[in-house]
Formats: sequence, C-alpha cells, structure tokens
Amino acid sequence: MDAAEFRRRGKEMVDYVADYLENIEKRQVYPDVEPGYLRSLIPEEAPEEAENYEDVVKDIERVIMPGVTHWHSPYFYAYFPTAHSFPAMLADMLCGAIGCIGFSWAASPACTELETVMLDWLGKMLKLPQDFLAGTEGKGGGVIQGTASEATLIALLAARSKIVKLIQADHPEQSETDITSKLVAYSSDQAHSSVERAGLIGGVKMKKIPSDNKFSVRGDALRKVLEEDRAMGLIPFFFCATLGTTPSCAFDCITELGPICNAEKIWMHIDAAYAGSAFICPEFRPLLNGIEFADSFNFNPHKWLLVNFDCSAMWVKKRSDIIGAFKMDPLYLKHDHQESGLVTDYRHWQIPLGRRFRSLKMWFVFRMYGLKGLQAYIRKHVGLAKEFESLVRADQRFEISADVVLGLVCFRLKGSNELNETLLKRINSARKIHLVPCQLAGKFVLRFAVCARTTESRHVQEAWCHISHLASELLQELPH
Ligand SMILES: *Cc1c(COP(=O)(O)O)cnc(C)c1O
Repeated sequence: MDAAEFRRRGKEMVDYVADYLENIEKRQVYPDVEPGYLRSLIPEEAPEEAENYEDVVKDIERVIMPGVTHWHSPYFYAYFPTAHSFPAMLADMLCGAIGCIGFSWAASPACTELETVMLDWLGKMLKLPQDFLAGTEGKGGGVIQGTASEATLIALLAARSKIVKLIQADHPEQSETDITSKLVAYSSDQAHSSVERAGLIGGVKMKKIPSDNKFSVRGDALRKVLEEDRAMGLIPFFFCATLGTTPSCAFDCITELGPICNAEKIWMHIDAAYAGSAFICPEFRPLLNGIEFADSFNFNPHKWLLVNFDCSAMWVKKRSDIIGAFKMDPLYLKHDHQESGLVTDYRHWQIPLGRRFRSLKMWFVFRMYGLKGLQAYIRKHVGLAKEFESLVRADQRFEISADVVLGLVCFRLKGSNELNETLLKRINSARKIHLVPCQLAGKFVLRFAVCARTTESRHVQEAWCHISHLASELLQELPH
C-alpha cells in the first residue's frame, strides 16, 4: 500500500467507522457465537502471497463483527465503561503515524513533554494537591500507565523497595529476603482482583481489610489488623485504598485511613480506576478528600473520560520513590540531558521500556471537550444512573443493594440468589442488553453501569422495561 492508496483507504475506513458507530444500536450488543467460532472462518496459516485490501475489508463483517461484544452500544451496561470518542480515535491515528517509542526525553521530546503537561492539566482538573504536579521543578508528577493494574503493581514495588532500604539503613545485617518475608500489604475486601495480583507478583503477603456495611474500609478496621500484625512481628508497608470499588462503587474512608498510614510509614496508594473521572466535577470532588495523605494516586481516563484505552493516569508525590526503585541505565539508553523537572525519562516510571505517544489523545480530548464538556458528560451519565435507580425503587419487587453515587446501580429482585441468577441469565440470553453481576454481602446482585457515550434516557427506559418484563415472566412461573 502506497501513500496514494492509504489516502483513499483511510477515508473509506473513516466512513466505515462512522457508519458502525452511527448504527451500532441496530447490532445485537452481545454475540451469539460459540467458543472457537473464528478458527473455522479463516485459513489455518498466514497467506504466502499478498492479498487484496478489498478482500481483507470484506472479512470484517464476515469474521470479526459476528464475534464482537459492542461495548459502545447504548444497550451495553456491563462491567464499567470503556472510554471512546472521535477526537481520541483521531489522535490515536496520529500516534500510530508518528510511531515513536518515548522511553526517554531524547527518544522523542514531544512525547515526554506533552505527557508531563497533560498529567499536570488533568491533575489540576481534579484539584490534586500541588505535591502531585510536576510543574518545572516539582518533586512529584504524573505518568500514563497502560492500566490501573500496572499502576498498583508499580506503587507496591516502589513501596517495597523504599521500606527495604529504610530498614537496611538502620539494620544493615538484615537481608532483603528476610525483610521481604515479613512485609505485609493491605487492601479492602472489595478491592479489584488486580490488587491481590500485585501482591502475588510482588512476592509479599496481602491481607484484605473487612469493609463496613457500606462496603467501605474505615480507620478502625485497618488499625485493628495493623496492631495484630505488628504484634506478630510483621512489617506493614503498603495500603491500597479504593475510591469507587468495582462491585458497588463504594469509597474507602481515606480521611481516616490516610493519617494512620502516614503515622505508620505505610505507603498509601489510591485506586480510583472508574470513579476518578468524576472528581473533575466540584460536586464529586469531596469524594477525593484525603488525597493529601496518599503517596500515589491512579485512575483511568480510559474508563470514563472519553480517552480510548489505554490511558491510566498515575501521580506520585515523590518521583524519586519510583525512579529509585526501578532505575537501570545501560549506555545505549543514556543521553546528554540529566533527569530534572524538565527532563523526564519515563522508562524509569514503568515496567516496559517501550511506550506510545498516548498523551496525544488526552490533548485532543481535553481541547475538543473543554473541562465543561467533560463535566457535562460525567453528569449526564450520573443522571442516567439516578433515573434507572428511581425506576427500580418504584417497583416493589426490586431492591437497591448499594448507594448510587455515580454511574452504577446495584439492584436485585427481593428474594433468593437463585432467583436473581435466573433473571440475569434470561436478560443476557435475550441479548437485548448486557449486564454482569456482583456479590455483595453474600447476595447475588445485578450491576447496571451506564457505559456508552451515546446512552440516552430512552435507552435506559427501554432497558428497564425489558428487565421488568423478564422479571414478571419469571415471577409468574414460580409456584404461589
Ligand atoms: C476496572 C478497575 C481496575 C482494573 O483496571 P485496568 O486498568 O484494566 O487494570 C482496577 N481497579 C478498579 C477499582 C477498577 O474498577
């Protein structure tokens, strides 16, 4: 394909994408295919000879689309949203064209510098404490990680390296292995599975702190476990708080937990993967109060801030903590500009070496929406969730299972778990909308997450009618 053909094919692809998105609600949100469906549709081996572009494009509808779950359909209410917008897609195209690998400042100065500034812009939108901003001579700063899982792992590894150095400064006779075997990290019992996984990868014990009846971890619960663990000779070093838990969008009480962590020299990381985007609205910003106690903070603009995957924003108060933990300097990666407020080598901030020019899509989105546009978008989704909540509340057969704070509604039929499992099964096999469940205090609960950018009130009303109709059918079948 030469530039002339690319020009033509590119325009065709833009048309295909625009058609796909304009008509997405006509497609069945969840596919009908069985596992292994795709293998039989394409050859066993890669082609020996080059094929026609037209033949490739024809196969999109034949091979790919039948097996796609349409996450951007307004009938998709599963998991949490994944962000999506036209400016972000265009920026990604440009990112592909530049195709740089921005592991150091010198490897592509624009890639590094735009990222530092975009993380400052975003940090200011969230009203993060000044300590987290890079500015031109800040000690903190932000970085784009691929996912929240990586951000948690990086924070845990940095905290591990910091505590080992701290202990060895006083007790040089203690080996790293001795110290590591006594380290213990904590999270809520509602935390995302990636937090437990960070503990496994980091090779440290990880304990779950019981949450209260609002699914929130309180100071007392943490304090109790810390006392027990210290008495057993363990070394608490890391606490991952969650703002907006995955099952029910609950908030750990960081105003209580933060001071405890600070006093006990425990690194506090905050995982706000989903909820973080909402903190750009003044009315939701109080949910982030206590951030001043954190050592690191992360959320995913790729969930709810219109920036396509992958874009997980992470800030640290002391960049030296993460750089100190992971710095490697082989000669072939060295350059003449020393690391400073102005020169950041992001390879020291992450696990891989390579990194894409992901800040471009933030820049496009922030400029094309403006803070006001982004706030309006968040508010619209929260409004739709509240609308769904009132529909559920108006129906005596149902109950709401957790406070509706942002764009997620947890609800269930009053009755057994089995009943609710059957209801969910029927909802998902009807294929009209798509939902996933969660477990809350032993109960099987349905999660309704407002996801697509184009979801409107009529979609929510339609979804509710459908659920309510399936519930009526189900309840009628039960013996009276
Ligand atoms: C979605 C989610 C994650 C995982 O996000 P990735 O970016 O896919 O790793 C982590 N924590 C919470 C609270 C989440 O909701």
